[in-house]
Amino acid sequence: MDKVRKTEAEWKAQLTPMEFAVAREKGTERAFTGRYWDTFTPGIYRCVGCGTPLFASDTKFDAGCGWPSYFEPIDPARVREETDTTHGMVRTEVLCNICDAHLGHVFPDGPEPTGLRYCINSVSMKFEPQGEE
Ligand SMILES: [Zn+2]
Repeated sequence: MDKVRKTEAEWKAQLTPMEFAVAREKGTERAFTGRYWDTFTPGIYRCVGCGTPLFASDTKFDAGCGWPSYFEPIDPARVREETDTTHGMVRTEVLCNICDAHLGHVFPDGPEPTGLRYCINSVSMKFEPQGEE
């Protein structure tokens, strides 16, 4: 998979200010305010930066945390994990492996079969309902 690289000015032109703040500057949307935290219709969630399909509705679950949560990505090669030590915590950051967008964090307290909880900002993704192009 080829990497997508753009300048800061190009990202600013493409993304909304909120999308830019989260995806490019590692911000976090407030819990229960994002566009997809309570979306459970069938479909796929694409990266807001590059359009890569990252998560599917059939792996989404209600974690009660106010952010879209998934137990696994569509393809592990499409996401990258890095250790994040900001805010006095040690967490595992999840990024798009294609355009390096900040997506959220992954925690080891998810449901079976993976036991993982990918806690992802709505604003870092674009939902595509099943059956639409
Ligand atoms: Zn991306």
